[in-house]
Amino acid sequence: MTDGKNVQCGSCAHFGNDLPNEQLIQIRVSLDDSNEVVAGCDAPNNVSVHLRVSALGSCDAWTPVAA
Ligand code: SF4
Repeated sequence: MTDGKNVQCGSCAHFGNDLPNEQLIQIRVSLDDSNEVVAGCDAPNNVSVHLRVSALGSCDAWTPVAA
């Protein structure tokens, strides 16, 4: 089980493929400063509908970013 902070979109491997890499790294480093960022989610259940989510959103498909 993870705490609430770790399951936010901004720390999910599916978040932000449409963002510049530097911006994505910054969001992962300091999620609290990224609450206005909205970007795509490429999770299998969401990619076909082009879901866009806030960095502070969440869902059960959250997947940790590979180290
Ligand atoms: S909606 Fe779910 S799968 Fe998509 S980025 Fe957010 S937590 Fe990850």
